[in-house]
Amino acid sequence: MPPKVLIIEDNPANLELMTYLLKAFGHDTLSARDGEAGLEAARSGLPDLIVCDIQIPGIDGLEVARRLKRDPVLGKIPLVAVTAYAMVGDRDKVMAAGFDGYIAKPIEPARFVGQLEIFLSSAERAMAGEIK
Ligand code: MN
Repeated sequence: MPPKVLIIEDNPANLELMTYLLKAFGHDTLSARDGEAGLEAARSGLPDLIVCDIQIPGIDGLEVARRLKRDPVLGKIPLVAVTAYAMVGDRDKVMAAGFDGYIAKPIEPARFVGQLEIFLSSAERAMAGEIK
């Protein structure tokens, strides 16, 4: 099975773009529009990677990260913040909440999937067609 990426993002245009890019590179995607739905999708879908916006309705991305990283199973899934929340010091706050990485918006379509694949195992990258 190709790697499965959960995208937690409330902006429909960003969600559509990230979904399009990931599918174009051979990944399966799941999506959620708010924090609670994102946690539920992580539990039920057990993705290989989670991409999460910080400013989302309900519990924010920082709290989503804290809750995921407290869970012995979900805490092992690589978790990458994708957010415009890029003021001085916010990167530290994002990483302190438990994120494994950080990509600033606006995303660069030509680089986005490659930036995420750094967080997947080489076996998962191979299944997505990255490694021949
Ligand atoms: Mn947002």
